[in-house]
Amino acid sequence: MGRIAARVPIVIDASTAARYTPAMQCKKSSNARFCSCTYPGCEKHGICCECVHYHLGMRQLPACCFPKDVERTYDRSFERFAGLVASGRI
Ligand code: SF4
Repeated sequence: MGRIAARVPIVIDASTAARYTPAMQCKKSSNARFCSCTYPGCEKHGICCECVHYHLGMRQLPACCFPKDVERTYDRSFERFAGLVASGRI
């Protein structure tokens, strides 16, 4: 507890980038229909790859990993998630 989260840069190397093709389509609009996040104004709603990247960099998980009542607290920490698992809620 009380740890200061550090953003962890994720570097995509050339061989990884080469596996992505122009045919890949962002599914933002269809993803957004299922996004359970209640944080207002976030531009990452529906852009799951950016959402996961953003939260993992702060030792957190996205909103959709939490039950509604916990999601609303905006505590998305690994510790909160682990506590939910340990208590059997997840
Ligand atoms: S979980 Fe975080 S990054 Fe994802 S949509 Fe909600 S506020 Fe934005």
